[in-house]
Amino acid sequence: MDLILIKNGHVIDPENNINDKFDILIEKGNIRRIDKNIEPFSGCEVIDADEMIVSPSFTDIHVHLRDPGQTYKEDIRTGSMAAVAGGYTTVVCMPNTLPALDDASLIRYVIEKGEEVGLCRVLPAGAITKGRRGKELTEMALLKDAGAVYFTDDGAPVMDSHVMRKATEYAGSIGSFVADHCEDLSLSENGVAHEGEIAAALGLPPLPPEAEDTMVARDCIIAIHTGMPVHICHVSTKVAVEVITWAKAMGAEVTAEVTPHHLSLSDAEWLDFDCKAKVSPPLREEEDIEAVRWALSSGIIDFVATDHAPHAHHEKMLEHHACPPGMIGLQFALPIVLELVKKDYFDMKRAIEVLSTAPARKIGIQPPSIVEGRKAELTIFNPTESWEVNEESILSKSKNTPLLGRKLIGKVKYTFYDGKIVYKG
Ligand SMILES: [Zn+2]
Repeated sequence: MDLILIKNGHVIDPENNINDKFDILIEKGNIRRIDKNIEPFSGCEVIDADEMIVSPSFTDIHVHLRDPGQTYKEDIRTGSMAAVAGGYTTVVCMPNTLPALDDASLIRYVIEKGEEVGLCRVLPAGAITKGRRGKELTEMALLKDAGAVYFTDDGAPVMDSHVMRKATEYAGSIGSFVADHCEDLSLSENGVAHEGEIAAALGLPPLPPEAEDTMVARDCIIAIHTGMPVHICHVSTKVAVEVITWAKAMGAEVTAEVTPHHLSLSDAEWLDFDCKAKVSPPLREEEDIEAVRWALSSGIIDFVATDHAPHAHHEKMLEHHACPPGMIGLQFALPIVLELVKKDYFDMKRAIEVLSTAPARKIGIQPPSIVEGRKAELTIFNPTESWEVNEESILSKSKNTPLLGRKLIGKVKYTFYDGKIVYKG
């Protein structure tokens, strides 16, 4: 359809300070007119967005698409389908694939495969160290030239502080940044569940929050001394929030993300001994959840990233020690963030910012924006529509989430990418 008219939607675009009802006319994929009232005319498809919100589409800088090497869990096509169903049009996939994304040809493979699928922008993060073994730095400049948007060994921390310091300096010197999965492995050991009353009551091997907190502190200190940026992945504890608050006050170029599951689920998910609750870092206690919610509200945590981590059913059925950590998240971020709006942690504008503009800006892409002349890259969602999380509604190849069978409120109705409708819900 050459002409699409989005009628009566509430348009929220933090980039342009738009927060009002507008009609939007899209012609051949470009936003042609934004106005209070545009009359429908013949030959134009009308989308009735009454009671709906129209926002720039979302960016997730932390997803695992398992391609290459583990495409029985997810691949770039199914990952893209889940992304656009969640309102995302840019995703950054993690380099903990098989082999690891530590080479320019692998970086190009991911970008080309993403373009071939064509549903959204799939950008790779390159590995910090060769083979993600934590020892020898990759050729970051070559990876960046090939299209890597930042560097991380995610799935594992960079345990060696000297390597982390060198990596931070190197990435910063080429205009990029490192992101760390903060976990001191000598503290987490064989821990499975957050160290607290529930792990103790259930007899699950405890994983102390210090494992995260000490590593966050180390990385913040490296950022302070090198003057280079460090991004903290999936912040989950109240102490980590305090440490990041301190580092930012010191003027460090530290940024942080939080996942939908750490914003909404607690270690109580373990009560039925279901390993779908296993994730790294682990689901925490109420106090931690409160802390990350308020940190996201205040800006201490900069944005939401899902850490979408698909695993096959047979893997999640293993005993708690053998089961791989991780849960999917691309389709749940919006409803979970909307829940926090409803509970008054922040307003709708901040909700759009943490899903859309802030993460896009972090990876140096122009945030999608609803302005005349731009290609349509937007998400239309109904903030009050409820839907059930089940095998059918999940578009990922894997269905590993404790949310299975639960109802969520907030549903993506349309996602536009590159001027085209890539999802209709
Ligand atoms: Zn991680």
